[in-house]
Amino acid sequence: MSPAMTAALKALFDAARRARLNSYSPYSGHKIGAAIRVKGGQVFGGCNVENSSYGGTNCAERVAIQKAISELGQIEIEEILVITDAPNPWPPCGFCRQVIAEFAPASIPIHAANLAIDTPEFKMRSTTFGKLFPEAFTSDFLQK
Ligand code: ZN
Repeated sequence: MSPAMTAALKALFDAARRARLNSYSPYSGHKIGAAIRVKGGQVFGGCNVENSSYGGTNCAERVAIQKAISELGQIEIEEILVITDAPNPWPPCGFCRQVIAEFAPASIPIHAANLAIDTPEFKMRSTTFGKLFPEAFTSDFLQK
């Protein structure tokens, strides 16, 4: 499913595209950008930041979330978009899905797109976070 490119979605795309330009990705060679819109309307972009010790790598989605929390404190994510230079959009990895689950309800829209906006090669896949990551392990399980 590919929804219409609304102004709100285009703002996420533009923020992800801007952040992607700063990607530090000498190991994978893939520049990734992500953007989240949080409750209140603010948009935060992020890029992947790789590390020679691969486990130290941060994905663009987690960087965007960490930026938002460092600026605002408590956040609730309302929408997420991830972009890559691959022809087929890449969804968030499992690690990012778990982190997203900490700050987003299952109902939010989540989009993965390539960079070819405004061309016939543009692809964007959209779903809800709950469909992408059902039965998430959340803080509800840790209640005493
Ligand atoms: Zn990830």
